[in-house]
Amino acid sequence: MTLKKILKSDIKELLRQSAKEWEVYAPVTAEEGDTLFTRLPKEKGKLEKALQGINLKDEWVVISPKDAFFPQLEDMFHFDKEKIIDTPSPSKKLIFGVRPCDAKGILFSDEFFKKNYEDKYYLSRAKDKLMIAVGCLTPPRPEACFCTSAKTGPFLESGFDLQLVDAGGAYLVEIGSDKGSEFVNAHAKLFKNSEKDEEDKVKKIKSKAAEAVNLKVDFEKALEIMKGKNDFTENYERIGERCIYCGGCLYVCPTCTCFNVLDDKKGDKGVRRRNWDGCVFRGYTREASGHNPRDKKSLRTTRRYEHKLKYDYSATGMSGCIACGRCLTSCPVKIGMSKFIEEITTGKRTM
Ligand code: SF4
Ligand code: SF4
Repeated sequence: MTLKKILKSDIKELLRQSAKEWEVYAPVTAEEGDTLFTRLPKEKGKLEKALQGINLKDEWVVISPKDAFFPQLEDMFHFDKEKIIDTPSPSKKLIFGVRPCDAKGILFSDEFFKKNYEDKYYLSRAKDKLMIAVGCLTPPRPEACFCTSAKTGPFLESGFDLQLVDAGGAYLVEIGSDKGSEFVNAHAKLFKNSEKDEEDKVKKIKSKAAEAVNLKVDFEKALEIMKGKNDFTENYERIGERCIYCGGCLYVCPTCTCFNVLDDKKGDKGVRRRNWDGCVFRGYTREASGHNPRDKKSLRTTRRYEHKLKYDYSATGMSGCIACGRCLTSCPVKIGMSKFIEEITTGKRTM
């Protein structure tokens, strides 16, 4: 893999240049202290202000960049009596500084939204993107991150356009695609050639980073178990009773894809919108007749775990969990995917 190098002090200039051509999303620490994936403004003064908050350290990014492609609330089309005006929004998107697990989440969503039906709203946003990942030297939330178990981090082996490896004063830059290579060429003044010994340096950094991830579960065994016939009724009932159905885990999950559709209509005109929804909510599966095939809490809990660890995997070859740990950190009653996996693979009660 070709290796280049960029000084940390040149990152802001790279983003300044990129913002002229791309819709750039990057982790920015807000005044309140949270680090969020933020769309960088194009207007010079606002861009400079946002650049002050760029944060590529191993910080906890509260929400993944999923909503660059699948917004929490979006207009699908406008309509009146005569016509429908579609509002897909294609644009070149640069997802800069995405964590490896979240990049895997985007790759999963790319598959999901074309699996049974081509979702033009998602696909029009996602088709022209460039992902520049940054690996984690240490897990941002050691008690929650379990990427090594799912092989989704702390560095990517493939699927990225560029991957940054923090080497002190500079990032060593792995080029993972032709698009990544074109990007480097377009900003050739900022990307230098790497030294001979720096490939070894990258290997050492990656191996140390993997050792730093302490939370481990048997992810492969869980996928294998979930493939077969099993009876986790007791687990689903217990977790279902514990859950307070706040939806926190769903909204922060990079791979949750449930949505609802509604029409906002005034007279003959209106707009059809969709918004994130969640399989743990009772109303999500309630049918027009009032019948609800998943009216019990335990059935909705079953759906959540089976969807992520069984159906997604069999349909896309990728697990619907990328081991980011956000469900555990957001849950007020400490339910999390890593704990569920531990339960089914060891038989131990964790929740
Ligand atoms: S289920 Fe939890 S750990 Fe897995 S991707 Fe979603 S939020 Fe992350
Ligand atoms: S965050 Fe916890 S309590 Fe809230 S819906 Fe998810 S599992 Fe249930």
